[in-house]
Amino acid sequence: MPGFELIDKNELNEIKHIFKNGSVLFRQGFEGLRKKVYKVKKFEEKFRDKFKSKFSLAVTSGTSALRVALEVLDLKENDEVITQSFTFVATVEAIIESGAKPVCTEIDKTLNMDPKDLEKKITKNTKAVIVVHMLGTPARMNDIRKICKKKNLSLIEDTAWGCGGKYNNKFLGTLGRMGTFSFDFAKSLTTGEGGMIVFKNKKDYLKAKAWHDHGHENNPKVPRWKDTRTSSGFNYRMSELQGAVGLAQLKKLDKIIKLQRMHAAEILKNIKDLPNVEVRYCENNCIQTFDSLIILLRNKKLAEKCRLNLNKKSINTKILPEAKTWHFAKYWSHMPELASSHKKNLINEFKKSEEILERCVSIPINCKMTKQNIFKIINVIKKIEKK
Ligand SMILES: *Cc1c(COP(=O)(O)O)cnc(C)c1O
Repeated sequence: MPGFELIDKNELNEIKHIFKNGSVLFRQGFEGLRKKVYKVKKFEEKFRDKFKSKFSLAVTSGTSALRVALEVLDLKENDEVITQSFTFVATVEAIIESGAKPVCTEIDKTLNMDPKDLEKKITKNTKAVIVVHMLGTPARMNDIRKICKKKNLSLIEDTAWGCGGKYNNKFLGTLGRMGTFSFDFAKSLTTGEGGMIVFKNKKDYLKAKAWHDHGHENNPKVPRWKDTRTSSGFNYRMSELQGAVGLAQLKKLDKIIKLQRMHAAEILKNIKDLPNVEVRYCENNCIQTFDSLIILLRNKKLAEKCRLNLNKKSINTKILPEAKTWHFAKYWSHMPELASSHKKNLINEFKKSEEILERCVSIPINCKMTKQNIFKIINVIKKIEKK
């Protein structure tokens, strides 16, 4: 979890800096007032450099980051975009908003996209894939990238939970054509609400940049009110207040990931040899962010019991097993667009995903977890099948 635990005077000082220097809360223009303070622009640049990506664009949320990224692909009515069954509703909502048809794959033991099922679900209408590094564990990027390359599909990484994680020494979000990030209040970095997109190609970046700002090309040769445009757009601009908080938060990313990984490692060390507890699978050469640590028990009943036992010790679980309805496509019959891609029978789909998810318990990892809480968690897990 989270950047919100580490909010301190640094975020406040970044905001004060705006108000001491002209109080311009808009990301561009007002040059006479703003005394060269550009928080969003600076946040984008620092983020780009940190992640070693080529281009970056800040937006209003992780959901809008996905929406803007999809706009770059020029999707048409019958185009299909494939994502995974275990994600947050936002991933599918963004596909629906883009006008394309959402399709979900099964997950495997990574709890992310199952590459074998991805291959099965590709049709002649498939244009793009949104892979999700759900709760901070990288998806099988080697296999998924190979499939996308072979089938000429654009790959977007929904890195809402993977901010600061790596795959083969590359930051998550930088392996596909575009990567999207969320800075909502539950994510590793937070600006209250906010998001970022990173791009490999300049053309994609310029298109997204214009579209997220009503089509404005911000042509330096003319004032903004005379600005050039080649398409319509929308408003997904980040405000300077969010940019200021983002700058302070970004400096804390390494510390956040380090603490989360340390706490997860402490728990893992103590449970890894238990005969009836399986740990979420992660490929080699990965750095997981450990927004949560997920274990798989022998069956659904044991998973529910484990949750109750944790709750009794005042430890919450995160998403699994209790909040599946918001994070598992099986329960999204309120999205007819998704249902129609799955024979209007979502509740009977994703049998493999269900078989995995129903056995999972997701333990939230915090920066400020106490030794005592870590000890409690280990004890509950150790005792789960002894009684
Ligand atoms: C949080 C989240 C989003 C959406 O981000 P917001 O900033 O809340 O709009 C998208 N995808 C996943 C997987 C998420 O967890």
